Amino acid sequence: MSQEVEHVECLIIGSGPAGYTAAIYAARADLKPVMYTGMEPGGQLTQTTEVDNFPGYPNGITGPEMMEDFRKQAERFGTDVRFGYVSSVDFSSLPHKVVVDDIKTITADTVIISTGATAKWLGLPSEQKYNGFGVSACAVCDGFFFKGQDVAIVGAGDTAAEEATYLAKLCKKVYMLVRRDEFRASKAMVHRVMNTPNIEVIYNTETKEILGNGKNVTGVKVVNNQTGAETDIPVEGFFVAIGHKPNTDIFKGWLDMDDTGYLKTVPGSTLTNVEGVFASGDVQDSYYRQAVTAAGSGCMAALDAERYLAAKEHDVKVVS
Ligand code: NDP
Repeated sequence: MSQEVEHVECLIIGSGPAGYTAAIYAARADLKPVMYTGMEPGGQLTQTTEVDNFPGYPNGITGPEMMEDFRKQAERFGTDVRFGYVSSVDFSSLPHKVVVDDIKTITADTVIISTGATAKWLGLPSEQKYNGFGVSACAVCDGFFFKGQDVAIVGAGDTAAEEATYLAKLCKKVYMLVRRDEFRASKAMVHRVMNTPNIEVIYNTETKEILGNGKNVTGVKVVNNQTGAETDIPVEGFFVAIGHKPNTDIFKGWLDMDDTGYLKTVPGSTLTNVEGVFASGDVQDSYYRQAVTAAGSGCMAALDAERYLAAKEHDVKVVS
């Protein structure tokens, strides 16, 4: 049960690129932001190795180091970064109420939600073992490391289809492992896959194990779910593209979401259906899902929050 109550002007939930960028802008606008990092400070990027596609790092940087830089920059302008997990919210009246770690209640004039999304994994121990050493859930982030090599990708939705064609431009051969005898992806995407000569689609196939030499991935053991036949396919990279889950469970019943749970925002803004609550980053973006796009929308969220507060101060009604 909540005991202490603290009031803040701007509360940021989540500490990925969106949350930290929102924090930098909010702090510089003197909103004195308080950030709760969640259980994984730095978010999804702390699980990656090299990040080569974020502008400003000409020699690349590791994901954890980059998120350290983000944190330091946010703190430099006075963001109060706290380790803690938002366990519930109450957006029924102003100011908004947010409970942290089930014990502490915060009231906030504005809330910026940047809780991100979590990539779904197959759940194999070998997948975990080689994560970052040949196993990846992001072709756009990591495909480059497999230039000229053979890779496999699992999944049959639009993401898998798009990532397979992306990988096909870089890699020698892409094996696409589809668990049913058909795709879930749209016809147009399937058409693209089928017309890419170096993608081989293998239907009715599930991943049994990712094979490795202790350091890197060397192959994948697959099983045909119709015949039970097992095959080892030699590959250097293994990509998982079986969907993401947005981290929005605590907002159910308060905020509008799509069927998958992504928060809905007013197009071209970060406004949610609740006054003073803004959403940025992967939690509201199932499409681009890049660190740099998340950072951009974090900036938008802080500007939206700042403008909302300014309008309120001048008694102008902002309708979301
Ligand atoms: P989806 O949920 O659409 O697809 C997930 C895919 O992964 C399915 O084919 C599913 O198989 C497969 N899968 C799930 N679990 C396993 C498993 N354990 N083993 C093997 N395969 C598995 O996720 P996406 O990320 O592809 O797409 C999410 C949303 O984003 C969709 O609405 C999509 O249309 C949209 N999107 C649109 C794009 C575009 O328009 N260009 C690009 C990317 C995404 P099965 O089919 O058998 O269930």
